[in-house]
Order: sequence, then C-alpha cells, then structure tokens
Amino acid sequence: MLNMIYKAIEKVNKIKRVLTGEGAKTKYTKYLQNIQHLPIEKLREIQALKLSYLLQYSFDNIEAYKSYKNQIDLSPETIFDEVKHITPLTKQDIINQSQSHINHELSTCIKRETGGTSSNSTVIYKGISEHLFNADNYFNLFNGITPGKSRIILRAFEMQKKYQLDEHPEVMYIPFKNSYYFVPYSLDEQKLQLLYNICITKKPKIIWGITRPVYDFARYIQDTNKTIPPFELCMTSGQTLLPHHRKVIEQVYQAPLINKYASTECWNVANQCLHREGLHYCSPVHYIEILDANLNHVAEGQRGEMYITILNSRYFPMIRYKTNDYAIYTEKPCSCGITYPVLQQIEGRNIESIRAPNLSVVSPVPIDKILFDYPNIKEFQVIQSVLTGYDLNLVIDGSLTKELQYEIKKRLIPLHGCDMNISINKTKTIQSEKSGKILHIKSTV
Ligand SMILES: [Zn+2]
Repeated sequence: MLNMIYKAIEKVNKIKRVLTGEGAKTKYTKYLQNIQHLPIEKLREIQALKLSYLLQYSFDNIEAYKSYKNQIDLSPETIFDEVKHITPLTKQDIINQSQSHINHELSTCIKRETGGTSSNSTVIYKGISEHLFNADNYFNLFNGITPGKSRIILRAFEMQKKYQLDEHPEVMYIPFKNSYYFVPYSLDEQKLQLLYNICITKKPKIIWGITRPVYDFARYIQDTNKTIPPFELCMTSGQTLLPHHRKVIEQVYQAPLINKYASTECWNVANQCLHREGLHYCSPVHYIEILDANLNHVAEGQRGEMYITILNSRYFPMIRYKTNDYAIYTEKPCSCGITYPVLQQIEGRNIESIRAPNLSVVSPVPIDKILFDYPNIKEFQVIQSVLTGYDLNLVIDGSLTKELQYEIKKRLIPLHGCDMNISINKTKTIQSEKSGKILHIKSTV
C-alpha cells in the first residue's frame, strides 16, 4: 500500500517537473525563501529541532543507530553537543553496511551512482520523495535560474536515447528543460566547435558544469580568437575553483561566475549568492560540522573537514557523513541579507592537498596563485607519493629554465613551512579523470 502511494506521488511530481521545468517553486522552496531572513538564532533553533527529529527517527527505525537509543539526550537545547557522540558515516560504510542503514519498511527508493573522483564509485540510496525537500530549487531561483531558461550543461549524465541529437549523438537536448547536455570528458576540437555553434545559434543564457570543462571551453574561445554572445550566468562545481579559472571564465562568458558545492551524496549543499562573499547553505536542509582530524570543531577561519547531516533524509539517513572535502567557515553575515550560514571557502578534497613532515596541509588555491603569475604556465598538477616532497608537472609554453625552477621553488617552500624536495617537470598535457575533472594535486600520503 505504502509502495503504491509513493509511486503515485512520484508520478505526480514527475508530471509537475515536466510542466514547470527545473527550478520550479515547490512548497518547500517557498518555505526556504520565507525563512531566509530570520534571525540567526531562530534558524539555529529550527535546525536543532530537525536534528533531534532525525536522530529520534533513526534510533527507532535504523538498525545501525538503534544502540544509541536512550544513550543520547535528544532535547534540542543540547543536541549540537550530543550529536558528537555519533560515529561519522563514511563512504566505506555506505559500501559495506548499506543494509543496516536503510529503513526497510519504506520499500522504494532512488539509487544514484556517485562519480567516484577520488575512489571507487558507490550507490547512494534516497527516499523516493526526498528530492522535494532539498535546497536545489531554492538555490536555482536565488541565482536567477528560472524554468525554461536555456542552458548548456557540462557534466556526467545518463544518456537517454530519445533526447540524443540525430547528427551529434554525444549531445542530448531535453526540450522541457531547454538544456543541452555534453559529456565533459575529453572535450576534443570537434565537440568544442559544436559547443561554439550552439552558443552562436541558440544563445543559451546559462552555462553550468564541472569547473574544468567550463574553463576548457572558455580557453578554446580565447585561444581561437572567437567571440560568443554573453551568458547571463555561469556556474561551476565538482572541483576546486582556482583563481586562474575564474579570471578566464568571467572574461570569456561576460557573466558572473557562481561557485557551488554539490555532490551525489548530499545534493546541492552550498551556493554563492551574487554577492559572492562565501557559499550559503540552508540550515533547515543540511547541518554541517567542520572538524579537525580528532573530530573537534575548528575555529572560525580555520580549515577543517566537512561532515554533513542531511536533515530530511529518512530512507537512508545521512548523519555526519564524512565528505573528504575541506572548508573554512565564517560567522560574518553575508551582505545580501540572507541569514543562512556561510562557508567562506571550499578548499577541495583531502586527496587534493599536499602534506608536509611538519603536518601542514596546502590546497591547490595558493599554488595556483603563485604559478599563474608566470604567463607561460598554462596548467599544473602535483603528484605526491612521499611526505618529504612531490613532483610538480607543468604545461608550459617555451622552455622550463633552471632560473624559473629555482624561483618557483623559492616561492612554494614557505607555503609548507618546512623544506620539501620539489621536482619540477615539463609535460605536454594533464589527463583529466573519467568525470571530466582534473585533480590539481594527487596525493597518496
Ligand atoms: Zn549572500
């Protein structure tokens, strides 16, 4: 019976999505808009209440959490301290113990496969209507993405035969979303030319995708001295947005660039608003903890790992999910007036960090800032397999002189705060991962 009801709800929602397009204003989106200016304390109270409900529900219904029942005080006043007693959920737990995390009484769900940038991909389970209670549409609307606005999307997707273009089967066009989908992996000359043709003839308003291919297309336009009609908005996600990406993207597309943090596991988590002072996240949807290696909260302005709780998850509750992504939070309110919390910066993945013997950790951002002071450096990748040093591979016009190597090393060492063996090499190209992303740092230490 429950099953049939869920299926009926899903069907109605599908029709609604077809009729209104992506960005449709659902009841939940309206709710998130209505409370977006509430005092910070009030939002915090709502979040505490939702966290208490989620934990209560999980202790009652989910095998993996039953042992916490009566061990944890669920009153909203103390819940942010109490939740620290719950062991974080890792990707490995999802792979190995998914059955004990599922509420089997809810017999239908959506399965989504993760991209697997830094490890093997895995299957994530979501309750069938849970997508109605996330912040995706809220963020779309707050960035001006309204239904039917034409867009180009450069990210991995599931190819649906009926939407493939006859003459270019690698591209999909979905009419009710007014969206062109491109697989971003290996954007060759032919695909770039096709993208360019679509920009000229269809004049899409939004370009949206994995940072790397969005940047690659901008570089292609720039390098071939072409011009395209301006976009209204570009959005990137999926990998750390480096300063040299932003510069080229904004110049070529003549539109503000919004960075967002989203994942298959946790949906669309945090977005920049047009003030771009950081990335907002919706506190009634996500509870984010930024923790050090000992699982203690880091101070404002300090880098820590993000652990995300999805407050509306029920089929497979995501409680303190270890993201392997790093961020810095700020308590400074954003000048746009929205009081949802702000992540000052997303620092990228654990695997995308250089470690040094003094335990310092460096993300790709400061390295990018140094390297792109040299106009003939086009791209970089760090490969680290030992703690005491790394290879820095550069795509560079002209020769890599001894003087340049010396100068770069002299500027990189202070980032680590201790001596490091840095070997700088010239390379023709840097291979992207299957997802279309390029890891600027690949570290296995
Ligand atoms: Zn803002």
